Amino acid sequence: MSKLDLSTQISLDTANTLAVPSRAENYAKIKSTDELKDALNFAEQAKLKVLVLGGGSNILLPDVVSGLVLHIDIQGIELLNEDQDHVLLTAGAGVVWHELVEYCLAHQYWGLENLSLIPGTVGAAPIQNIGAYGVELQEVFYELNAVDKKSRQDVTFDKKACEFSYRHSAFKGSLKDQFVISSVTFKLSKTPNLIQHYPVLRKALEKLSDKEISPSIVSRCVCDIRREKLPDPKDVPNLGSFFKNPIITKEQAQNLQQENKGLVTFPVDDYHVKVAAAWLLDQAGWKGFLENGIGFYSEQALVLINPGKRSSKEILAFAERVEKDVAAKFGISLEREPVSYC
Ligand code: FAD
Ligand code: NAP
Repeated sequence: MSKLDLSTQISLDTANTLAVPSRAENYAKIKSTDELKDALNFAEQAKLKVLVLGGGSNILLPDVVSGLVLHIDIQGIELLNEDQDHVLLTAGAGVVWHELVEYCLAHQYWGLENLSLIPGTVGAAPIQNIGAYGVELQEVFYELNAVDKKSRQDVTFDKKACEFSYRHSAFKGSLKDQFVISSVTFKLSKTPNLIQHYPVLRKALEKLSDKEISPSIVSRCVCDIRREKLPDPKDVPNLGSFFKNPIITKEQAQNLQQENKGLVTFPVDDYHVKVAAAWLLDQAGWKGFLENGIGFYSEQALVLINPGKRSSKEILAFAERVEKDVAAKFGISLEREPVSYC
């Protein structure tokens, strides 16, 4: 039986990358699945609602979290299985995502390099099926272990059960807040598997010879591109993209294109395209906008910034204003990407 290390009245101001002022009435750092189950038992007995926190890079926190915040810090990276071409690698939910990426680079495993430098933890990565530079988590995902918040039973989810889609999974949808992920297993390649169709990455890699290409080199290119374009939350509080890229039918896109020359879209399937939300925001005049300490980053309109360290309530009111404006100008509803607990 583990002992729960419970604290009260803990500031979460630096535990979320948007720098929203927030306080947990009850807080515990969780280092193992046993501790997790004890904490869930305690929360049930004390009638406290549980909020699960990883790196705080995709979350909108309220001023006060009145229940129990479980900060997931389950560590460890383990090689589960290996054959000639692949490895199965399991990482604890509290492992920092980029540290897992670096572990894979050091071992020359292919698969995570395009996802370099994404903030947050391994346990949160399946929640929104993290993606960047032409790769989504689901492409390297094997299975995950989770604890059912109600029954405290261990449950394994395979890829199908996670219902991954664009920046989404069952854990953001029908199963939202029902499970705490304790570890994730990835299937990675020992043989070269270069994914370079994303234009800005392809351009960077074209300058190199085939012989030079390795997971580490791809990762370095991705890191350089990211550092140049995206704001470091330590300097400019943000959650990355605040809105998803809307997916609309080709017919809708054609109609929109007639009125909006230059509308940026990307193919999804035979019937749908993805509209660059950053283009919509830019055209509507929001790129670089700043008012009352909240705005959008000058280099990337999708990144909502909070230099004024305003509350989630103020941020959500601002987001609503922007959504209404974009809907009025283009007839498109923007969908928010971060998970809100306000
Ligand atoms: P948190 O913000 O702590 O939590 C997010 C949600 O997951 C919450 O609902 C929380 O309750 C839940 N959760 C967290 N851990 C667990 C767990 N163990 N079990 C169950 N539920 C859990 N995202 C991308 O997809 N691609 C990008 O390229 C990208 N770039 C970014 C760049 C910047 C600068 C920033 C600030 C964010 C970016 N993001 C990106 C968003 C974010 O980094 C990811 O969504 C990340 O996976 C969130 O991890 P986290 O640990 O910070 O989650
Ligand atoms: P970018 O390269 O300027 O591209 C803008 C948008 O256009 C991206 O959202 C991307 O969609 C889409 N796009 C561009 N080229 C594409 C292609 N060839 N095929 C399909 N879609 C294409 O974007 P950025 O802001 O600098 O980000 C670079 C990458 O990092 C993107 O993959 C982005 O998703 C990811 N990122 C995500 C977050 C987040 O919080 N979710 C934050 C920062 C960066 P996709 O988003 O579908 O890739």
